[in-house]
Amino acid sequence: MALDPDCLFCKIAQKQISSKTAYEDEVLYAFHDIAPQAPTHILIIPKEHIATLNDLTPAHAALVGKMFLAARQLAEQAGISQSGYRCVFNCMRGAGQSVFHIHLHLLGGRPMGWPPG
Ligand code: 5GP
Ligand code: ZN
Repeated sequence: MALDPDCLFCKIAQKQISSKTAYEDEVLYAFHDIAPQAPTHILIIPKEHIATLNDLTPAHAALVGKMFLAARQLAEQAGISQSGYRCVFNCMRGAGQSVFHIHLHLLGGRPMGWPPG
């Protein structure tokens, strides 16, 4: 599995840097965002290092599907599956990506505006 020794989220997934775990399996790790933008704000990441959505290949299809299934399960556990939640991937700096290891934001627990800023 590809890891980047300089990547913050690789270090978090490998438990070299501590985080508040929300979910974990063989290929995914999920943890609470350090600067939550909503009452529920969880980041779901692959353990494998993938820098941006631009780096996805068809071989990653199942992995990305698992990220959304984890979001669905975590939303249910957080009690926001009916009130509503948002799943966001920011791709590249212009869209707000600041950590270059793909992560699915799961946000909920408050009303959400549209369009996003
Ligand atoms: P981005 O801006 O790349 O879409 O999202 C990166 C997210 O990672 C931000 O919401 C930010 O608060 C979160 N984040 C950055 N560093 C850490 C950290 O060390 N621990 C945790 N739990 N979250 C982090
Ligand atoms: Zn990484």
